[in-house]
Amino acid sequence: SMPEPVHKRILLKFSGEALLGDSDFGISSEVLSKLARQVCEVMDIGVEVAIVVGGGNIFRGEGLAGGGMDRVTGDHMGMLATVINALAFQDAIERAGRKVRVMSAIRINQVCEEYIRRRAIRHLEKGRVVVFAAGTGNPFFTTDSAASLRAIEIDADLMLKATKVDGVYTADPMRDPTATRYDRVSYDEVLDQRLKVMDQTAIVLCRDHKVPLRVYDMTADGDLMKIVTGDTSVGTLVD
Ligand code: UDP
Repeated sequence: SMPEPVHKRILLKFSGEALLGDSDFGISSEVLSKLARQVCEVMDIGVEVAIVVGGGNIFRGEGLAGGGMDRVTGDHMGMLATVINALAFQDAIERAGRKVRVMSAIRINQVCEEYIRRRAIRHLEKGRVVVFAAGTGNPFFTTDSAASLRAIEIDADLMLKATKVDGVYTADPMRDPTATRYDRVSYDEVLDQRLKVMDQTAIVLCRDHKVPLRVYDMTADGDLMKIVTGDTSVGTLVD
């Protein structure tokens, strides 16, 4: 029999770097199809999935600031980078068997839909994956903050931050061998101790609107399925 989901609607945040795989620029098709498969698996048991993807694998707003580039222009370029990644996800998830809509916070209507909240929710109800592109649509924000914002707007019951480590640690586990992983940590502890989870704006949004956040290792196949079926041993819960 099929496992029962304990979450109805989730928002998954992937950084641009998540798509790199072994290279230092661009998009790995292996990583992309693996993530697409994980998404389709949890949809098959009835979970609605929305995705926010970053753009750091292609461009970050502050990237050319040292050379004098205007920051707002840089951020526009960064947001466009997220659209590129969103289109890559759309293609991979459709090949894995699910319908997808990309919804951009800035209008690029020949390429994807624009973000309209009620339409996004309708897509999810119809079993389509929604990939939110272009972050919040505003400079000086991040796609982590965009993920919190969209999670609140679509009333997701869980936000998932996909990383290459299996949760939140007391210190950087790469540098400090005594670092230990939290099973669970509060929003305020994350803020007070400046734990590296997401930027502070993103954490505050989740805290104030009571969206629980789980940090997990996206490279571990099966972990996403474990999480949506209620296995609380995977990753770190921030709530
Ligand atoms: N960005 C922005 N507004 C947003 C989200 C993103 O201006 O609401 C720009 C910003 O320049 C950022 C870039 O898009 O550096 C890529 O996003 P982010 O750095 O969050 O990507 P990630 O680190 O998740 O790959």
